[in-house]
Amino acid sequence: MTTKEYDLIVLGAGATGENLADRAVQGGLSAVLIENELVGGECSYWACMPSKALLRSAQALRAAQNVSGASQAVTGKLDVGAVLARRDSFTSNWSDAGQVRWVQGAGISLLRGSGRITGRKQVTVTAWNGTTTIVTARHAVAIATGSAALIPNIPGLRESKPWTSREATSAKNVPPSLAIIGGGVVAVEMATAYAGFGSVVTLISRGKLLGNMEPFAGEMVSTSLANDGVHVVTNTETTNVSRSADGVVLTLNNGTTVSASEVLVATGRTPNTSDIGLETIGLTPGAWLETDDTMLVQGSDWLYAAGDVTHRALLTHSGKYQARAAGDVIAARASGSPVSDLPWGAHVATADHEAVPQVTFTTPEIASVGLTSTAARAAGYHVRAVDYEIGYVAGASVKEDGYRGTARMVVDESRQVVLGVTFVGPDVSELLHAATVAIVGEIPLDRLWHAVPAYPTVNEIWLRLLETYGRESALPLRPAAAA
Ligand SMILES: Cc1cc2nc3c(=O)[nH]c(=O)nc-3n(C[C@H](O)[C@H](O)[C@H](O)COP(=O)(O)OP(=O)(O)OC[C@H]3O[C@@H](n4cnc5c(N)ncnc54)[C@H](O)[C@@H]3O)c2cc1C
Repeated sequence: MTTKEYDLIVLGAGATGENLADRAVQGGLSAVLIENELVGGECSYWACMPSKALLRSAQALRAAQNVSGASQAVTGKLDVGAVLARRDSFTSNWSDAGQVRWVQGAGISLLRGSGRITGRKQVTVTAWNGTTTIVTARHAVAIATGSAALIPNIPGLRESKPWTSREATSAKNVPPSLAIIGGGVVAVEMATAYAGFGSVVTLISRGKLLGNMEPFAGEMVSTSLANDGVHVVTNTETTNVSRSADGVVLTLNNGTTVSASEVLVATGRTPNTSDIGLETIGLTPGAWLETDDTMLVQGSDWLYAAGDVTHRALLTHSGKYQARAAGDVIAARASGSPVSDLPWGAHVATADHEAVPQVTFTTPEIASVGLTSTAARAAGYHVRAVDYEIGYVAGASVKEDGYRGTARMVVDESRQVVLGVTFVGPDVSELLHAATVAIVGEIPLDRLWHAVPAYPTVNEIWLRLLETYGRESALPLRPAAAA
């Protein structure tokens, strides 16, 4: 057994852990990252990158097919083998050598093995060969162990060896048919990808699709999936799953069955906290870790958590944002420097509460940030939502023949600022950051009016939303302009 000491111990070297350690080292601390799988975590190898690589080729093909002049030039089908090979290159064939080089270059130490908290500021690491190292932290320990796919208690499901997002994003072959249990982002993205590869996809969702978003988002994706041949079954429970030599059979609570070669379970995430020694410091194993906005775990003065494991916003960019706040505040507290922990200060992840951006890479894309109209009302805001068809914007009609899309802007009527925006349509992801800036900056609508969108781009949706708001408002923003 060996012992080591660092200023900061970071448990988990996903995107969050890497960024957290990096910020702390930039702040003058020594830091060690402990990782029991691949440095880079879920996003690099089994989530964001491979899933987006799987989706991108079909999206590019569709974009060309929807512009006359280009469509005549692209008459072939998707080359699925080439898509999978491109995906493999994005995951570096599941080798983390490049990220290990980055960690070393950043001056961060790396210990490979499974880490468990074994006392105050102490983590014991068991390496793959069974040797143990006791690591102590002079200042802090940060948990960034992420999350894993949740397998619900459906009789026969576990025994049927279901795919999780890991198998779906790393598959070497496309199954002839795929049943997907779930109606969230992973479910609809993988339904889009596998339908595009020619798999016969059935998606079974307990509720509506994408239930946490504006309702029109799930409805438009549902229609598009159906047009692509996906059998979308909503408001239906899967009550049993069984596997035979031919594949899987799902029994649904509407009395029907679904047969498929594979079943993908995409019903949410569970925190990777069941075996990290939380019980040794009075916390509950298997629970999400609750933190304050500096990412300090509630009730502790040395334990931090960031990324998926906090359940604040299960997105890579949010985890990295929290990591920047946590790494910086740990360094500041260690050196006795001033801490900026008021809302929107340098050491807090304020945006997690009401300004989280997210893109769902379906057909059509969904780009959303901030509160939906329902969430804003539930939070007590005096809300008005305005909608506009993106296809009416000149830039959209140039971009794609027959462009169809919808935008909704949710306004806080009391302060006249934007609380949330949802865009649904081709290529809307690149519209999102302007919406994020408007929300985070709490830019009054009267000033936003002066942010002139370039013509003819899809960004003119902002002008149309503001005009529509002005027309409908009891407090007119501007006189109605010609559409
Ligand atoms: C299919 C899919 C697609 C997604 N697409 C997107 C997307 O497009 N954009 C986006 O922003 N987000 C996306 N996400 C979410 C994103 O993947 C996660 O939010 C992100 O990976 C979380 O990062 P993290 O660092 O908190 O955790 P992780 O990436 O899970 O990293 C945690 C690390 O900790 C390690 N670890 C765990 N326990 C221990 C231990 N005891 N000892 C040592 N190491 C340990 C793990 O091996 C892992 O490497 C997607 C998720 C899925 C499932």
